[in-house]
Amino acid sequence: MSLLTIVVPCYNEEAALPLFYDEISRTIDDFKNTEPDLSFELLFIDDGSKDRTIEIIKELRAGDERVHYVSFSRNFGKEAGIYAGLENAAGDYVVIMDADLQDPPSLLPEMYAAVTREGYDTAATRRVTRQGEPPVRSFFARQFYKIMNSVTDLEIMDGARDYRIMTRTMVNAVLGMKEYNRFTKGIYSWVGFKTKWIDYENRERVAGETKWNFWKLLLYSIEGFVGFTTAPLTIAAVIGLFFTLAAFIMIVFIIIRTLIYGDPTSGWPSMICIMVFMGGVQLFCIGLVGEYLAKTYLETKNRPIYIAREKE
Ligand code: UDP
Ligand code: MG
Repeated sequence: MSLLTIVVPCYNEEAALPLFYDEISRTIDDFKNTEPDLSFELLFIDDGSKDRTIEIIKELRAGDERVHYVSFSRNFGKEAGIYAGLENAAGDYVVIMDADLQDPPSLLPEMYAAVTREGYDTAATRRVTRQGEPPVRSFFARQFYKIMNSVTDLEIMDGARDYRIMTRTMVNAVLGMKEYNRFTKGIYSWVGFKTKWIDYENRERVAGETKWNFWKLLLYSIEGFVGFTTAPLTIAAVIGLFFTLAAFIMIVFIIIRTLIYGDPTSGWPSMICIMVFMGGVQLFCIGLVGEYLAKTYLETKNRPIYIAREKE
């Protein structure tokens, strides 16, 4: 007998949850025909929802003993939800799946086959289309993946979803990464393991609204950079070195010119431009360093990744 845990992070999903439960129950029933030795656990993570999400989860639990849940004391974000899910999952295999049915349960058999029969440690999904997404957002998302892949030695798939199945060994490896600033896509890539990628067409959420906006995505991408590469610090150092060399050449040039032609005072506007420019570069580089310092500061506090209010 093996157990498959399906972790479902939920934040204000009262509208989507009943639909999700119907669909996933049907998938599980279908599984019974092909995998009679497999049992299921549904682990809902209520991420401090402000609507009736937790009541709905409790109703589901009353009628179905496969349902378990962890309820947070406030909203800690999806990354914390995933961590809590992995930490509380009892399964030999663990799946992370959104509550809005954007992650099609119909892919589950293929994902399960990958880790049980094809020798993979994890099967992950990615969207091949970004249909229904604002073009500006798609553009920035693409740039983010491009830069991320070129400055880090991690391989982060463009369009990768959080929807994936993992073996117990990999789950334990991910749980071993206890950082407070969690960028799970980077963590999956960092821990390694054999990954099978499964492509599918993007689909709209069944009910409710996305919790992401442009600003949140931007902050999230900065989290990704700071968490997995120190390249910006090196770039700051290189910029500094470049300007030092440039200044040195300029000094030599001006000394020689003064010796030959004397010293007519001129060039105030250009000097102001250079000063403002250098001030900008310096502030920018200090800001970069500050970003890393801030993250280090938060990590050294060793705060818990989430706080559970209720657990069953
Ligand atoms: N989610 C969460 N905590 C949050 C935001 C989102 O647990 O603070 C959950 C949400 O309920 C959903 C999943 O994460 O199940 C994905 O969220 P969403 O659909 O808003 O993201 P998108 O699919 O647009 O990337
Ligand atoms: Mg969604």
